[in-house]
Amino acid sequence: AKRAGRNRYCWFDKSMEEEARIRREMESAIRAGLARGEFVPHYEQQIDLESGALVGFEMLARWDSPELGQVGPDIFIPVAENCGLIGPLSESLIRQALDDAKDWPASLTLSVNVSPVQLRDPWFPQKLLKLLLGSEFPPARLDVEISESCLQENLTAAQTMIVSLKNLGVRVSLDDFGTGFTSLTQLRTLPFDRVKIDRSFVGELRKVAEAAPELEFDRADRDHIVGTLVSLGKGLQIPVTAEGVEDNSILETLRTMGDMKGQGYLYGKPEDAAAVMKRLRQLDML
Ligand code: C2E
Ligand code: CA
Ligand code: CA
Ligand code: CA
Repeated sequence: AKRAGRNRYCWFDKSMEEEARIRREMESAIRAGLARGEFVPHYEQQIDLESGALVGFEMLARWDSPELGQVGPDIFIPVAENCGLIGPLSESLIRQALDDAKDWPASLTLSVNVSPVQLRDPWFPQKLLKLLLGSEFPPARLDVEISESCLQENLTAAQTMIVSLKNLGVRVSLDDFGTGFTSLTQLRTLPFDRVKIDRSFVGELRKVAEAAPELEFDRADRDHIVGTLVSLGKGLQIPVTAEGVEDNSILETLRTMGDMKGQGYLYGKPEDAAAVMKRLRQLDML
């Protein structure tokens, strides 16, 4: 038993060391990559589901590291948060995005994600203002997405932050709606301009349609969380966006639930600024 215990200890120890080494490597790669301009914004289309019209883009960070290859934001954002680089990284991405988006038609919005770590910084609105002043993109067309997980720790602080951001003239959306534990009462006190239903729930819609094709869509609605979240949005009189619209069956189900926006692989993968311009030309929007 003693030996097993020691072996277990050694294994645990080694994996911790290994993990710390990988984290240090990624930290220095992020630092270098930031200096070398390796982090580039990609853009995911946002569609009005009723009309099918393109209404905006969400910026999603992409990193092709010469040392590490392509690393997804799910990996490098948390590392950047932990080593104090998320501020500079995010500001660099938002600066680039504002510059790309200034050439888009005036009907289109730009959404950006901000990390809970940035939202804890009381100077964040000031920093965002500086970026806006340094760009030609109008604040009214910028949408700042705040994940529901940010609301957990300190609701009052979150409320203050949302109000400060809105005072800049930007919109503020509740991202990953449904994944946190915000109550209806709490949501009412937060002046969000939009809620975005997380794709983990939207994906369920396909299963519902596959499992029970004979059900009327509105009948099926009651059996899944998306219907509940859409109703919540309606009750709060906050417009809704559905993430993860992957196919036509999901799209059709969402359309039965009311007027909303959507985004997802049905409309294409996130693409770089040049591809966005090409798309806008093809759509005759430029
Ligand atoms: P998110 O804000 O929920 O973004 C949506 C994610 O879902 C993106 O992943 C997008 O590529 C992916 N996605 C879009 N449509 C579909 C679909 O139809 N099916 C599926 N399965 N996935 C879809 P991505 O780009 O890997 O980003 C992951 C997360 O990283 C984002 O989740 C966001 O929270 C975060 N993130 C990305 N860029 C930034 C950034 O610049 N700053 C911060 N703080 N976070 C970022
Ligand atoms: Ca509409
Ligand atoms: Ca988002
Ligand atoms: Ca999400």
